Amino acid sequence: MRNITIALTAAASAFAGLLQAQMNPPDTKVTLRQLAPGHYVLIAGRFNSGVIATSEGAVVVDAIAPEEVARQQRELIASEIGQPVKYLVSSTFHDNYSKGNIAFHDVIKVGTERYRTDLRELMRRGNVSSEEQKARMPTQTFRDKMTVYLGGKELEILYLGRGHTAGDSIVYVPQDRIAYLSELYFHEEFPFMADGYGIQWIETLGKIEALEADIFVPAHGIIPANPRETRDGLRRARQRLIAVRDAVQQQIARGATEDQAVAAIQFPEYEGLRGYPQQKDIAVRRIYQEIKGTLR
Ligand SMILES: [Zn+2]
Repeated sequence: MRNITIALTAAASAFAGLLQAQMNPPDTKVTLRQLAPGHYVLIAGRFNSGVIATSEGAVVVDAIAPEEVARQQRELIASEIGQPVKYLVSSTFHDNYSKGNIAFHDVIKVGTERYRTDLRELMRRGNVSSEEQKARMPTQTFRDKMTVYLGGKELEILYLGRGHTAGDSIVYVPQDRIAYLSELYFHEEFPFMADGYGIQWIETLGKIEALEADIFVPAHGIIPANPRETRDGLRRARQRLIAVRDAVQQQIARGATEDQAVAAIQFPEYEGLRGYPQQKDIAVRRIYQEIKGTLR
């Protein structure tokens, strides 16, 4: 019993550490990089956020937490791009991309219906004040698609299926051949799977790869000097999920239990990737459960 308690405590603190590592310190410096005319990425630590600038205002894809960092994000958009923020599109309900929403409390905040449900539940469980809840919640939701017409640009905000969470959004700008993928895309990192659906994630990324775009903006990872190389990066990110799926399927075919699959499956080729040591077992477990139909 004592051993079980120690093991559980260790697991809980490892998980807490992981969640903490997921958020930037308040003094993290934010930098702005142009990817294409009118398209930018804001970088804070290991987090990326997108900005689409039009003649009638800017659209931000994901606020980076904490609030102080998101405030810097907004100041940088005002000083460097010279546009007011009109919309904030949020993909992930997790704190690392929703706590910064507070700094955008006065703009139109968009997310999927499922994002709204999951964010509300997260804040309820975290005993977040009603004032903060109001500042973080979306003001507009959609199910499959919402189109924003702004400054001559047509922005498609899309839900293409489950992946990193059950309610991820992407923002696709067909005329500029660019798509902002948030945490559906971990560039040269191992995917964070704690609330993920690996099998469906593979399908969702398949739909994204079919989009007529040259640049895919990831939430994590350093975007190559030539941003068009992200099409290959995205293919590799999907391939990593396929590798986990195939390995789990093989274990299931041999009659392995979930624990046996976790023990048997290793990917030496991914060991150097950020997130692998923390996420490999979680990815195997969730995909095992997804295949078996027991994932809640
Ligand atoms: Zn997330």
